[in-house]
Amino acid sequence: MYTNYYAEHTIFVDSVRKLVEAELKPRVNEWEKAGNFPDEVFRILGQQGFLGILIPEEYDGVGGDYRMAGAWCEAFGELPAVGLTTGVNMHSLVISHSLAKYGSKAAKDRWLRRAVAGEAIGAYAFSEPGAGSDLANIRTRAVREGSKWILNGSKTFITNGARADFILVLSRNDVNAGYKGFTTFVLDTSLPGFKVNKKLDKLGWRSSDTAELTFENVELDDSCVLGNVGDGWIQASNNLNWERMMLTLLSLGGMRAILKDSVRYAQDRKAFGKSISEFGAVSNMLQQMYMKLVTGESLCHHALDLLCEGKPCRAEVSMAKRQVCEDAIWMADRAIQIHGGYGYTTEFSPERWWRDLRIMTIGGGTSEIMANIVVKEMELLG
Ligand SMILES: Cc1cc2nc3c(=O)[nH]c(=O)nc-3n(C[C@H](O)[C@H](O)[C@H](O)COP(=O)(O)OP(=O)(O)OC[C@H]3O[C@@H](n4cnc5c(N)ncnc54)[C@H](O)[C@@H]3O)c2cc1C
Repeated sequence: MYTNYYAEHTIFVDSVRKLVEAELKPRVNEWEKAGNFPDEVFRILGQQGFLGILIPEEYDGVGGDYRMAGAWCEAFGELPAVGLTTGVNMHSLVISHSLAKYGSKAAKDRWLRRAVAGEAIGAYAFSEPGAGSDLANIRTRAVREGSKWILNGSKTFITNGARADFILVLSRNDVNAGYKGFTTFVLDTSLPGFKVNKKLDKLGWRSSDTAELTFENVELDDSCVLGNVGDGWIQASNNLNWERMMLTLLSLGGMRAILKDSVRYAQDRKAFGKSISEFGAVSNMLQQMYMKLVTGESLCHHALDLLCEGKPCRAEVSMAKRQVCEDAIWMADRAIQIHGGYGYTTEFSPERWWRDLRIMTIGGGTSEIMANIVVKEMELLG
């Protein structure tokens, strides 16, 4: 059920799967019930080098590429706790990666090695109570006062927001400069004026923290600017494209795990004197699930190839995200059906897959926004 797309990373993928099976899977139920996975998870992954895939070696990273990151995402995505896998990947593959790409030397020296070790945890704060899809409408403001920047505003839905040591905060520094008026800052959460208002209670991703944050006159210096003043929008667009790919690859890993579990269950479960997999209606569901997986692989790997080659791929990533994330939810739903009454209980994984994957058509850009991007980029309507 695994294509040879990641043939050069076979040993790496095996080591990820071993870690997932031995160290994480046995404990995810406990963490989901507790409503939090411990920070120790970051340290376990950091010690084994899994948090530095896209980080240069000079900062203790692996110096890998997007294909290696893709191999990680698909294998790690098989863990039935998407809040955990996304929380980790946002930290390592999106936030630390962005800091490595754009951060000042001072910010990188301060945070990157600790981030790779899992000793400092990052979050990414774009969304606000009044602006999610319509990101250009954010209200968080950075105002220059002498040699300092003063940050005011609020963010919501922030993954790792409550546990973060550093946060990349998208703000507006010049409301008259259009898309050139956005700047991202690397904020140390121990600074006065930063506050976690509350952790949000959610349908899924129950062990991951999703928080509402406020900034009240937080003072930042120039070393906290990510890249240059005014680069925030273009950085956000680039980061979002990769974040979408990452979320889609995690969903693909989830689809593979769901199918494996469903096949095993259908072969083991007996009704009317035979395995339920022998009933055409059930094997047809499995066949349709397999088709969605194979289609998803093609879409994802095509988009990932373009990303690796540095070619334009906003439309391809958006198509993959929309299709695969919608299909992943459909697959979790079918898995519940195949598991019958047990599928509806928390003793089996399909109900959690269904709750956890539901957000994937919303977070990082909704399916509707993905469709808008495809229409625009492909000039479908002229
Ligand atoms: C668990 C979770 C974790 C998250 N983590 C993070 C994070 O770490 N950092 C971060 O910054 N954000 C995060 N988000 C926020 C997430 O990215 C937003 O929820 C998402 O972008 C949608 O924005 P919104 O919720 O404001 O919905 P809205 O933008 O209000 O959309 C509501 C509905 O309107 C539709 N819609 C809006 N505009 C259009 C349009 N132009 N065309 C067609 N339909 C449209 C949408 O598709 C959707 O169906 C997270 C959210 C959740 C729930």
